[in-house]
Amino acid sequence: MTWTEVNDQNPQMVEVGRGDVSAVIRAKIAAGTLPTIKPEKMFVGPGNGRPCSGCDLALTSAEVEYEFDGEDQRIMRFHQRCLAIWHEERTKRKELPSCEQGH
Ligand SMILES: [Zn+2]
Repeated sequence: MTWTEVNDQNPQMVEVGRGDVSAVIRAKIAAGTLPTIKPEKMFVGPGNGRPCSGCDLALTSAEVEYEFDGEDQRIMRFHQRCLAIWHEERTKRKELPSCEQGH
């Protein structure tokens, strides 16, 4: 077992590597690469070797891939872990007063 220094102050983020992925996903949301709106439909299936929209690592056939159409008909693909982080990060973002959805 090795100890890794983490910069994230959130005590809930204890999973290995999760801090890095959440930082990447947060940056992608901020850059507009990832949507902030929850998709109407989502598909789940085995991975196909294509990169995850969150962490950019391949979704292998041994892993579950979550897929949905994002903004501009872009197809978003996530690992289960990355999807959970994306939901967490976009929800946090939605709570900011500067990000009104207009509904
Ligand atoms: Zn991923």
